[in-house]
Amino acid sequence: MLGIVPVAAVSAAWPGVAAAVRPDGGAVLIRDVRIFDGRRMLDGRRSVLIRDGVIAAIGDRGLVGDGMKVVDGRGGTLLPGLIESHVHTFEGSSADALRFGVTTELEMFGEPGQLAVAKQRRRSRKRVTAADLWSAGNGVTVPGGHPVNPGYEFPRVLPETDLDRFVADRLQEGSDYLKFVYEPGDPPDRPLPSLSLEQVTATIRAAHRRGRLAVGHVEKLKLYVEAVLAGADGIVHVPYNAVASAAEVETIRQTGSFAVPTLSVVDWGLGAKSLLADDRITPWLSPTQQYLLSQEPPDRPGRPDFLGIASANVRRFHAAGIPVLAGADAPVRANVSGASLFTELEHLVRAGLTPAEALTAATAAPARHFRLTDRGRITPGRRADLVLTTDDPTQDITNLRTLHTIWKNGHQVDRTPPPEEES
Ligand SMILES: [Zn+2]
Repeated sequence: MLGIVPVAAVSAAWPGVAAAVRPDGGAVLIRDVRIFDGRRMLDGRRSVLIRDGVIAAIGDRGLVGDGMKVVDGRGGTLLPGLIESHVHTFEGSSADALRFGVTTELEMFGEPGQLAVAKQRRRSRKRVTAADLWSAGNGVTVPGGHPVNPGYEFPRVLPETDLDRFVADRLQEGSDYLKFVYEPGDPPDRPLPSLSLEQVTATIRAAHRRGRLAVGHVEKLKLYVEAVLAGADGIVHVPYNAVASAAEVETIRQTGSFAVPTLSVVDWGLGAKSLLADDRITPWLSPTQQYLLSQEPPDRPGRPDFLGIASANVRRFHAAGIPVLAGADAPVRANVSGASLFTELEHLVRAGLTPAEALTAATAAPARHFRLTDRGRITPGRRADLVLTTDDPTQDITNLRTLHTIWKNGHQVDRTPPPEEES
C-alpha cells in the first residue's frame, strides 16, 4: 500500500542525517521504497530524504527526525521525474506535462517570449504547477520551410544570411540550444524548401563556437547521416523512410550523436487511443489533452509502415550503442504533453529497449546529453523531482501508468486537471 502517513516523532536511524533535519515539517521522507535511480534499480528497499527541494540523503532503512512528512513507499517504485526530449509548448501544456510526472520538458522549436521566465523558474525550488522548460526557441529554417504554420512569425534564413550572426541572435533571444530543419528534396517527396547542407554546417559550427548544442529535425535516412556527419549533437526524429544498413548505423554511432525517435508521431493515433481507453489515465487528463488525443490523424492512402520502419531503426541504433532519448513531439498528431511520453516509452520497449533502458531514455540520458546537471537521477544533491508508481515499471513499462505521487522541487503535485473552459 502507498499512502502519506504523518508521523509525529520517529527515532533517528541515519547518523549524520537526522541532526541536520529541521523540525519544521519542511522535510519529506519517502520510506522503504524500491528506487530506479535513472540508470538502474538499487538493491532492496531504501528511504529518500527530501529537504529544501533537493534529495538530501538516501538510506538503507529510513527513520529520521521529528515532524517531517513521511510517505510509506512500501510496494512502490520511486523514479526520477521524467524528462521529455521533444515537445512544443502552449498555454497550459507544461501543467498538463507535470500532472503526468514530466517534470522537465525540452522544447524543439517554440515561441521565445516565455524563455526568460522559464529560465528563472527552472532555477527556483519553489512550488510550481508546471514542468520546467528548456527550449530551442526559434529554430533555424528557411522561408516556406518546415514548420509551415507555427502560428507566429519568426526570423528565417535567407541565402545571404550570416548564420554565425543568426545563431548569436537566437541565443540572445533565450534559446538554450539550436534546432535546425534539414529536409532538402524534390516534390512530391518533400515539397518544402530547406536549409542546404552548407547552411546546416554553418549553424552547427556557430552553436558549438558558443558552447551550445545543435540538434536537427531530419526525417530521411540519407539526410540523417549527412546531418550527424556535419556535427549535429542529436537528431530529434529517427528516419521512417528506410531502415539503416549496418554501415550507416556504424557511421552514425561514430559521430556520438543521440536520437530522439518520436515513434509517437508515426504511430498514427495508436498511443492516443490506448490512453483514452485507460482509466488509470483519463481522470487526470485536461480538456485540452482529451481534445488532442481524440483527433484522428488524417489517413494517407498507401502510407508505408512508418512505425515499423522507424522502430527497426530504433532497434538497430540502440543495439549499436547510439543514445536514445524519449520524446513524443506533442501536440503533433494526437500526442499530448505528459501522457504521450508513456506511450512513447512503450513504443521504445517494443522496438527493443528494456523497460529500464526506456526509463533511462526519459531520465538520466536526457539530463546527461542536454547537460542538466541538477536532475534526472535519484542521488543526493539532485533536485527532488520524483515520481512514485504503485507497480514497478522496470518490470513492465506500462506500469508507469500506475503513477501515484509526483514531487516537483520537493513539493507534492496536485494532479487535479483544470476544469473545462467556459466559452
Ligand atoms: Zn517537433
